[in-house]
Order: sequence, then C-alpha cells, then structure tokens
Amino acid sequence: MTTAETTVFETLESNVRGYCRSWPTVFETARGSWLTDETGKDFLDFFAGAGTLNYGHNNPVLKRPLIDYLATDGITHGLDMSTVAKRRLLETIRDVLLAPRDLDYKVQFPGPTGANAVEAALKLARKITGRSTILNFTNAFHGMTLGALSVTGNAAKRAGAGVPLVHAMPMPYDGYLDEAEDLTWMRRALDDSSSGLDKPAAVIVETVQGEGGVNVARAQWLRHLAELCSARGILLIVDDVQMGCGRTGPFFSFEIAGITPDIVTLSKSISGYGLPMALVLMRRELDQWAPGEHNGTFRGNNAAFITAEVALRHYWSDDALELATAAKGERIHRHLTALTEVYDGTSTRGRGLVHGLVFEDASQATKVCRVAFEDGLLVETSGSNDEVVKLLPPLTVTDDEITHGLGILTRAVEIVRDAH
Ligand SMILES: *Cc1c(COP(=O)(O)O)cnc(C)c1O
Repeated sequence: MTTAETTVFETLESNVRGYCRSWPTVFETARGSWLTDETGKDFLDFFAGAGTLNYGHNNPVLKRPLIDYLATDGITHGLDMSTVAKRRLLETIRDVLLAPRDLDYKVQFPGPTGANAVEAALKLARKITGRSTILNFTNAFHGMTLGALSVTGNAAKRAGAGVPLVHAMPMPYDGYLDEAEDLTWMRRALDDSSSGLDKPAAVIVETVQGEGGVNVARAQWLRHLAELCSARGILLIVDDVQMGCGRTGPFFSFEIAGITPDIVTLSKSISGYGLPMALVLMRRELDQWAPGEHNGTFRGNNAAFITAEVALRHYWSDDALELATAAKGERIHRHLTALTEVYDGTSTRGRGLVHGLVFEDASQATKVCRVAFEDGLLVETSGSNDEVVKLLPPLTVTDDEITHGLGILTRAVEIVRDAH
C-alpha cells in the first residue's frame, strides 16, 4: 500500500486535529457503512461520525430529495425565517415524533451543533428558574463551549477552557459508586440545607454516556432521577445529542424509562445525512424565550431540514428500525460477551447499537483500534483513560457487515492479547 500524502495536514492544519491521527489515511468517498480512501482501500465504519451517521453515509433515501432540492434552488441558508422546508420538518416532527408519544414540546432551532443546543438548554433553564447551578454527572460529555464544558467531566478537555468553569456540580452517575442506589448523595445534598449545595436550576444527563465510556444508566435510575427533579422543582435536561435518533433503539433514548424530560437536546443524527443541525425541545410552558433572546447565524440550514424530514418520515413512521436495532444490538452484545469470557481483564456494556469493549489495561484498547484500522475497520476508544473500544455502527448496518466487523475486531483482540 502506498503511504498517504498527508504533508499539508501536518504542516498547515492545526495541531488540534484528532481523529486523523487514529486513522492515518486520506478518505475520499463513502456509502452506507463504508468509507474508501484515495488508494481505493475500503473501511467498515463502526464509528459513524460519533453517532452522526445513524442512517449511513450518503444514504440514497436522503440524497435524492437533497439533490432535487438543491437543483430547484430551494433555500439553503434561511436564518430563522419561515421556509417551506422548515414547515414540512416541523409538521413531521409533530406528526411522527411528538404526537404518537404524547409529547407536548415546542421546538427551538439553535445553532447547528450539539454544544449550541446544550448552551441554549442551560441558558433557558437558568432563565426560567432564576437559579444558576446545574447538576451534571461524573464522566459526562456535553460539548466544548464554556457552558457545555462546565458540565463535562474530562479533565484535559476542561483544562482547555483557560478560565474557571463555574456554576456546575458533578454528581455520581449510575454505577459510579458501585452502589445499588447512586442517587443517595444527590438526594441527601438537595434535602440538607447545610450540605453547601445551592438549589440547582437543572440536572443535565445522558442516558448512556457515549464519550464517557459507554456507561449505561438503568431505566429505574433514570426514573428515580426524574422523580427527584420533579419533586424539587429542578428541570431535567436529557442530552440526547448522541444517544437520540434511535441509537439505543427508540427514537428518544429516555423512552425506555417512561420519563418526560423538561428539555431535550438533539443534534448529530437529527439531519440524518451528516449535515449540521440541532434542536432543543422544551415542554410548552417552558418556552419562555423572548423573541431573538437566543440566536445564531446558522439556525436555518434548510438542506439539513430536507434530509431530517425525509429521515423522520422514512425511518420513524413505524417501529421497524427500532426492532432491527434491538436485534442487531443483541447480536453484537452476545459476540462481545463471548469474547470477554475468553479474555480476562475485559468486560462489555451497551444498549441498542452502542457497545463498549472495556479493557482493564487501557493501552490494549488503543492497540485494538489501531490493529482494526490496519485490517479495515474504524473503531475508536472512549472513557476516562481511553479504556473502552466503542462500537457505534450505522443503524442501517447489515447482518453481513456486522459479521465482517466483529470478525476484524475479534482478530484484533487476539493479536493484541497474544502479544502480551
Ligand atoms: C457530541 C456531543 C455533544 C457536542 O456536540 P457538538 O456538535 O460536538 O458540539 C454534546 N453532547 C453529547 C452527549 C455529545 O455526544
């Protein structure tokens, strides 16, 4: 294989670049679950843009309407003006997502990234309650802007802020203390007027922590958290940027717990096509924004609205995708469980189509990803010490592709473990 020409990336692109270091090649095209580099080598994508490509790369179901829209000079940039594309999307959100689930949410279009949605959610919660503290969780990840970083756990990422990150207080996530009931401390601190904890505006939580190492909160824990918040007048924000849009099975990851968050953030796969887009959903009575109080130039990425609308209608009008995700996830879970029985010092956890293979010796996780890459599989690590190989295939992955990917992963584990 010829070595990829990467000089311009090394000499011109900032040192901040990251994924290109894990996957040292130059990609050119992509389709479905596959990327192809400029030498023609194919890579099976079990990362899916960190959960942005739930329906795969360049999915033809979404591409055709997008091309037609562009070809007929449909609005591309629309600030927050009313457009035909946005009307169709809002109607589809109402009819496909909200009405069938009895969710009475209003829809805000913030800037097009997950961090934009998180910032808007935190700001709104503070405005509504008049309180400043936000409770977050150990190992949480909510984005790179200052507000989002203040509720993020990772020390290296936090250090990048360069200023104190304030008005947030971390609480133990489910399983963090290895106790049956990890909300004990939070409940106690909230109810004790001498705990030193200021009454918070909101709690922000991921139902499965993607970046934090595929930590899975139990449905019962989420229910207890929702009850705790509601009983004390604290708003519950579910950050569904990565776990929403069907990643764990149902469209919203909190559906398995039967809870209704006050505020929900969505981004990553909401446009369905990898086009930048984000949403904040809020209970109707919480829509206390003044006109223009929060804005952003790229709130109206109408091309993303086109693919988002088609994705919702095509994939979420029935439960076929949800059932398929559960079945594929179960298969991956069984395979990973069998692998952990062969190799001690490993374990696995996950839900739907997000799974982690956890290594006690964290360095092995990075090595497994490297060997898998050489063999044509894209997987990345996550967790505080990069100890977790995270499997995040597109939801549209085929059974044959799962077989192929798990085969590469298994060989990679064998190679890394035999070398020890
Ligand atoms: C990726 C992610 C974000 C940040 O989204 P960006 O688009 O990178 O700003 C926020 N929350 C969660 C849970 C994420 O996975």
